[in-house]
Formats: sequence, C-alpha cells, structure tokens
Amino acid sequence: MARPEPAAPNQRAGAGGFVTDDAHADSPAPARDLGERLTARIRAEGPISVATYMSEALYDLRAGYYATKDPIGAGADFITAPEISPMFGEILGLWAVQAWIDMGEPAPLTLIELGPGRGAMLSDALRAARLRPAFLNAARAVLVEASPALQNVQAQTLAEAGVSVSWTRRLETAQAGPTVLLANEFLDCLPVRQFVKLEGAWRERLVGLHPDGLDRFAFVFAPLPATPADVALLPASLREAADGAIVEIRPGVEALLDALAARFHRNPGKAVFIDYGPACSEIGDTVQAVQAHQKADPLQAPGTRDLTARVDFQSLAESAKARGFEVTGPTPQGEWLLAHGLEQRAAALAAANPNARARLAAQLHRLADPDEMGALFKVLTIASAAEPAL
Ligand code: SAH
Repeated sequence: MARPEPAAPNQRAGAGGFVTDDAHADSPAPARDLGERLTARIRAEGPISVATYMSEALYDLRAGYYATKDPIGAGADFITAPEISPMFGEILGLWAVQAWIDMGEPAPLTLIELGPGRGAMLSDALRAARLRPAFLNAARAVLVEASPALQNVQAQTLAEAGVSVSWTRRLETAQAGPTVLLANEFLDCLPVRQFVKLEGAWRERLVGLHPDGLDRFAFVFAPLPATPADVALLPASLREAADGAIVEIRPGVEALLDALAARFHRNPGKAVFIDYGPACSEIGDTVQAVQAHQKADPLQAPGTRDLTARVDFQSLAESAKARGFEVTGPTPQGEWLLAHGLEQRAAALAAANPNARARLAAQLHRLADPDEMGALFKVLTIASAAEPAL
C-alpha cells in the first residue's frame, strides 16, 4: 500500500523552506547517532518543534531518512502510485502535454518534478509524451531532489528519457521560463508544526525528552501560549476548536507557493500536486512513521523511518488563490484519473497484451478505488493567472 494506511485516518521549519541546512554538519558523531545528537540538543536547548524534529529526521545530511536511503518500492519502506502502475505516470504525461498546449506550446519548457523518488513517474510521463514530439523537443526536465541517493536512481531511470535532465535541491534555483510542474507525494514530506488547544489557548506541541530519564523522545507542550502571529497561521475554520484539539500547519507550503508565485509572475505555468489528505481542514495529529510497509513510532529511531503528515488541501487551495493562482480541485485521485482516461489506457494495454489483463485491473483498482488510493489521495492543480496578480 502507499504510505498512509487508508484504514487508519491518523495518518508527514526550523524548516521554512524545502531543504534545511544541516546545522550539525561539523559534528563528529557518527551518522547512526542522529537520535543521540537530537537528545543532546534538547537537553541543552529545550524541546524542539515537531517541524524541526521532522526536518532533522528526514534531511540531516548524514543520517536523515531522505539524505541516506532509497526507501521506495515493494521491497523497501513504502510504495507510491507511480511504483504501483506505469499508467499513473503516463496519465500525468498526457496532462503535462495538454498543459503545455494550453500555454501556447512554449519552447523551451521547464518541466519540473518535485521529489521524483525513483524517477518512475517522469519516465512513464515522457514515454506517453512521445505522441507529441514537439513537447519532448521543448522540454528540459529539472528534478528538485533532496536525496543524493535518489538522484542517482533517477539518473539511471531517466538515462534514455530523450530530454535533458538536471538536478537542483530547491525550486527557487530551477531554470526559469514557462513551466509545467509535477509533484506526487512531495508535500506530505514537508515538516509540520503542531498546536494543541489547552484551557482555551493554543500552545505549540513540541518534541522533548520523556520524564522517565531513559532518553526517549516524548511530546510536550510549550510552556507559554502560542503568539498571536502563530495563531494567525492556523486554518481559520479550526481556530475555535475545543480543548484537546491538535492542529497542524506546514510552513514549507507557503515557501513553495512563494517560489511558484515568483516563477509564474514572469512566465506562464501549471502545476499538479497529488498527495494524501482531506479536502477540508481537519483537526488531528497526523504525523506518521512508516517502515517496511508497517506503521512505526514517529518518535523512535529518527532517520530510519519515513515521516509524513497528511496534506491540508483546503489551506493549500486558499493559499494558492490568495496569490492570484487559478486552482482546480482538490479532486479525489480516483475520479481525476478516470476523468483523464485511466480506464481507456488499461483497456488499450489489456487489448495489446491479454495476459496482463488481471494485473492491469488490479493496478486500476489500487489507484482509483475509493477503498484504496482513490479517495484518500487528492489532485490539485495550480495555474498562473491569465493576468498576473498585483
Ligand atoms: N514522487 C515520488 C517519491 C515520493 S517520496 C513517488 O511518487 O514515488 C518523496 C520524494 O521527495 C523523495 O524523492 C524525497 O527524497 C523527496 N523529498 C522529500 N523532501 C524533499 C525536500 N524537502 N526537497 C526536495 N526533495 C524532497
């Protein structure tokens, strides 16, 4: 199954941007001791935000989960839609070609993917895009990838892709120009801050040390109420939630939208984001760890397990609209894929290879059925406004 267990809705600042700098790069501690380094830091400086914990666990340059591992696939920690079926990337490829046509077929085109994982989605997308050779002639792929290990895998997967491919660690530094951007299961990795309502006031939920003295991490509350500036960041619809409610915010999304705004202000662009999460903002602690396809404790062994939290699509859509973007969705993934020809693609492939019929039907079911990925995952597209926003 893909990362979130659909049956369990409890589903990934410092990290304001996408990639945090490694504040501990000079530390002599071995990589496996990320947990010890965080323990020492908390002992010296006090509890850290959930976002800082996630950021260190995912992106620490020597021991972070994404910095060091190749976690995606049936035999690894989690599996994603492009790894379930090539049809997923093919449909994204056709979407990208249509987006480029809608933009007036600009050349060159910067084709960006955020967090390409093993590169399967882009490889499948570019294969489908062969039906419009002018698109492949125009496209220059730029992969925004934090993980050197995954960059290597992507280079191998895309060796025969037929377009130039380059890498960067931040969207801000990707080649300017007319842009089509794809992102599947990228936003869920961006760290979240958590706030909890206690006796009528919001407090930040932090990661500290367990009082049992065994150097275990534990959730604690900030000693002081959240500042008005922090409370203003919470989704307006949740600000009056009852005592005990937990609300998450994701600063990296705002930074990402700022980077898109800078890009789309000068040139046309379209972006598609696919991820797991509710269409409307909801309360709840949704930080989850997954290891070897099993749910794990997010506060244990940082760096060894994937950490994600569900994406708040309402906040994403509102923030995008506030920047003057045209937004469609969020649409449930199953509905979106079927509207974009998933069934026809499966039928065509089955007609060409009758032996694959059962496998294709199973893939279609996993991607589109509401009991699988079809309802929990959503698709949201963002386009530069026809008139640039003031
Ligand atoms: N899109 C792929 C992979 C999803 S996993 C798929 O669907 O299979 C998340 C991907 O985002 C990984 O490639 C990870 O290394 C990358 N990533 C996570 N956080 C990132 C960040 N802050 N900046 C750049 N890449 C990041």
